[in-house]
Formats: sequence, C-alpha cells, structure tokens
Amino acid sequence: MYDDLDDIDDSMMELNDEASYVCGSCGEDIVVPVDNSEGRDQQYVEDCPVCCCPNVIYVEIDQDGFINVRSHLE
Ligand SMILES: [Zn+2]
Repeated sequence: MYDDLDDIDDSMMELNDEASYVCGSCGEDIVVPVDNSEGRDQQYVEDCPVCCCPNVIYVEIDQDGFINVRSHLE
C-alpha cells in the first residue's frame, strides 16, 4: 500500500497541534487537531467519533503555547 501522508504534511503551512478530550458520554479519549491560528480561546461542537454524541469542546492556549481542552456533552 502506498502511503503519501507525508506529502499532505508538507502542504500544510499553518502550525497545527493536537490535544485530547474525554468524551462525556462514552469516556473515550479523543484526539483532536488544534489550529493555533483560530485564536487562544476556541469553542466548537464535535460529534464523538466513537459514540457519535455531540460534545462541546473548549480549547484554551496559554502564552506558553500549552493547549488545554475541556468538554461537556451538548
Ligand atoms: Zn463518545
């Protein structure tokens, strides 16, 4: 199988990071990409990929670049 994921990384100019939250419904640890260009405080709704329950995700990026993610069920 040909794996060309490296080519996708090369085309991404924005600095992206990852963080994780715990789904409020099934308790699974869900890893989400964090786009630093969206600001230090972000909020959005994401359906859990495991149980499909919508979680409200709060992303906070402090001045050291540390990403803090909290969530609760919508
Ligand atoms: Zn879930």
